[in-house]
Amino acid sequence: MAAELMADGIPPRQRARGAGRLTQFDPAAAAASGASPAPATDAAALWDSARARIERRVGADSFAAWIAPLCFLGIESGIARFGVPTGFFGSWVERHYAGVILTALAEAGAGAHGLAFDIRPAAAAPAAGAPAVDAEPAEEAALPGSPLDPKLTFENFVVGKPNEMAFHAARRVAEQGEVSFNPLFLHGGVGLGKTHLMQAIAWAIRQRDPAKKVIYLSAEKFMYRFIHALRSRDTLGFKQMFRSVDVLMVDDVQFIAGKDSTQDEFFHTFNALVEQRRQVVISGDRSPSDMDRLEERIRSRLQWGLVVDIHPADYELRLSILEAKAEQQLATHPRAQLAPGVLEFLAHRIASNVRVLEGALTRLFANADLLGRRIDLDMAQEILADLLRASDRKVTLDEIIRKVAAHYNVRVGDILSQRRARAVARPRQIAMYLAKQLTARSLPDIGRHFGGRDHTTVLYALKRVEELRKTDSAIAEDLELLRRMLEG
Ligand code: ADP
Ligand code: MG
Repeated sequence: MAAELMADGIPPRQRARGAGRLTQFDPAAAAASGASPAPATDAAALWDSARARIERRVGADSFAAWIAPLCFLGIESGIARFGVPTGFFGSWVERHYAGVILTALAEAGAGAHGLAFDIRPAAAAPAAGAPAVDAEPAEEAALPGSPLDPKLTFENFVVGKPNEMAFHAARRVAEQGEVSFNPLFLHGGVGLGKTHLMQAIAWAIRQRDPAKKVIYLSAEKFMYRFIHALRSRDTLGFKQMFRSVDVLMVDDVQFIAGKDSTQDEFFHTFNALVEQRRQVVISGDRSPSDMDRLEERIRSRLQWGLVVDIHPADYELRLSILEAKAEQQLATHPRAQLAPGVLEFLAHRIASNVRVLEGALTRLFANADLLGRRIDLDMAQEILADLLRASDRKVTLDEIIRKVAAHYNVRVGDILSQRRARAVARPRQIAMYLAKQLTARSLPDIGRHFGGRDHTTVLYALKRVEELRKTDSAIAEDLELLRRMLEG
């Protein structure tokens, strides 16, 4: 094997990372079986347009394997629903393509913030004699690892409290001095940066020491390689290849939990490498101790090294990530205009994973680009209505006023009154700010509710509080605390 990463001349962006095909399921046969009902024509047109975008993004092979077999059933309450042949198929698509699908739907003009899958077993029956395993794309089969995404570097990774431990551990591994923890096990929910950090390690080592043999691949791909080796009676070659690397990184290891022969082979590979003091990095969607279907000996082995949890991004980290990504978007959309306060608004309102945050920004910039609109709060609320609704726990203006009054120890009547003393004016401004952040109410609406004030008064309050949030940490903490209480 060349002492190199998997440079195969194919731009990584053209293929989904770690995509491959299922063992028991032949998507082409399922697609041809026509088991799904025809969706309404406008839904069909929408999906056609979204599909074309997805194909450009993930490449023909991944598209044929995972997207083509999906039967689009429509969008309801912000959830895009698909018919899939198996539950596993659905969770795979969710895990690997949710961002791409949601972005494509948004670009095709329909917003959704989540995916749901209906299992339609009829679609799953593979045609008789259909090839079961060797459906892996030919050019991928030639590579032991997966191609790397050039964007997933340490430089592009924004560090905050929830991920700093994982970041520093990844840096340490990339520095490649003495192997200090082996394996490094990164775990956390979807879209929190596990793949990003692993690929960043690979890029960093590749840059510093091109002679090092680094392999990054998904656990799924590991399984394919193994099955392929079994079928072509080349398990020796397989073992030699994986046991001769300097750094092995296996992403989404939960995939092989419960798949016995693959688990076994993984265990042996893993042991051989660790014994030779080669670095192993593993990721999973949960900690080893929580992986039920993993063999006990593997589970305990995975805990020998350093197990690091990536926590969901908090407000500060969400905002820093948005700032970094907005800067990149502005560089590629030079005509787009981004009004102040929008990123803060998104960071407040979209508390799920980083991929969703990225998707929201992409939608806003696509809209600004296509329609020449300035990205401001109103536009964001309109374009992202579905996303925002999902995180909207139906907070009412009265609730906000009550909670803020209680927090600052003033009466609700004071907040609604015309009094201008700082002791009541500041809580009033804060309540207005939270009203704008946490509800879909317009400025005039909020003004009316706050004792019949003008919308310009509300606007002034929003600006003032935003300034204070940046300069006064006590106010910033109050805001975060109140927001948490109100959002439950
Ligand atoms: P995971 O593998 O944990 O599901 P990914 O690494 O694929 O998540 O991250 C999802 C997306 O969010 C990627 O586009 C990634 O670049 C981005 N992302 C996640 N965390 C960060 C971060 N801290 N800074 C910048 N981008 C991030
Ligand atoms: Mg990942």
